[in-house]
Amino acid sequence: MHSQNKLKKAFTILAFLAVGFLFGQQPYKRTLKLMGSRFDITVVAKDSLEANGYIDLAVNEISRIERLISSWDENSQTSEINRNAGIEPVKVDAELYNLIQRAIGISNLTDGAFDISYASMDKIWKFDGSMKEMPSKESIQNSVSKVGFHNIVLDKENSTVFLKLDGMKIGFGAIGKGYAADRAKDLLISKGVVSGIINASGDMNTWGRQPDGKEWKVAITNPMDKNKVFALLPITDGAVVTSGNYEKYVNFNNVRYTHIIDPRTGYPATGIISVTVFAPKAELADALATSVFVMGKEVGLNRIEQLPKVECIIIDDKGNITKSKNIQIERP
Ligand code: ADP
Ligand code: MG
Repeated sequence: MHSQNKLKKAFTILAFLAVGFLFGQQPYKRTLKLMGSRFDITVVAKDSLEANGYIDLAVNEISRIERLISSWDENSQTSEINRNAGIEPVKVDAELYNLIQRAIGISNLTDGAFDISYASMDKIWKFDGSMKEMPSKESIQNSVSKVGFHNIVLDKENSTVFLKLDGMKIGFGAIGKGYAADRAKDLLISKGVVSGIINASGDMNTWGRQPDGKEWKVAITNPMDKNKVFALLPITDGAVVTSGNYEKYVNFNNVRYTHIIDPRTGYPATGIISVTVFAPKAELADALATSVFVMGKEVGLNRIEQLPKVECIIIDDKGNITKSKNIQIERP
């Protein structure tokens, strides 16, 4: 997760905060870097002392999750799973076990377009500017042979995870921020916070309403024309997540390769430049936004239409905007 790119995304989707007063309550916001990304945490509270206490709780929760799921932190349980690929099963906390189980559920739902074991491709495709030439066919084929969620072996009774193949690796880049946002939101709700937003670099997770009684809104821009907001959409108690390749990509021979990899081929997904998904939970929205990128417009839209309470907006590389049928676009 590259913070610079994340900053850009933060400008793509903006939260409109009306500074109103209702029952003496007011929104308080803190911006900070967590999970390698920019987070803006907003809570509606009676004063800054109360608000800061709540925001501290959310920050601690997100940091705790980061320590569990980060594949960069060599002390995390996720790194231990990766180190033991092809060697032996690793005992993990129920929380991580369950997250992996749900991630595999999304792989099944998307015919493998979403796959946390995409991560062994990290060695081949780098989107931090360090990659100077197109990886060879052989290296891609070799790496993609280590990808495949069917080779993630779960043992519920012993709470273990085993990556069957030597060189296999899992990573939560496409689901972790969403999961952390859901947990932080649930925690704050359980502490009595009536309303707020966890905004993870433009991925928005909200609950309650603005103090003036209005719904929270997200503005969506077309990455082809970033200065123009083309939709302003209300979100009540739900999440809106955007995946867009206009941020992280490399160019070879005038072809743009994105940081979202098709786990079945080992090549980056093409054809789409931005996918926005609306869902009750940020975790699902996050994973599905990445999945639609890989599935492509037709299959992706079709899959989204079949899921209750999930909607999407897809922008392809020609600038065409396609939306699922229940989205009412409110012109700003
Ligand atoms: P963002 O970078 O905006 O958070 P995404 O949520 O779409 O975008 O996540 C992209 C990240 O997900 C990549 O940087 C990589 O870490 C990981 N990833 C790439 N391809 C896949 C895939 N097919 N399935 C699961 N995770 C993926
Ligand atoms: Mg995602």
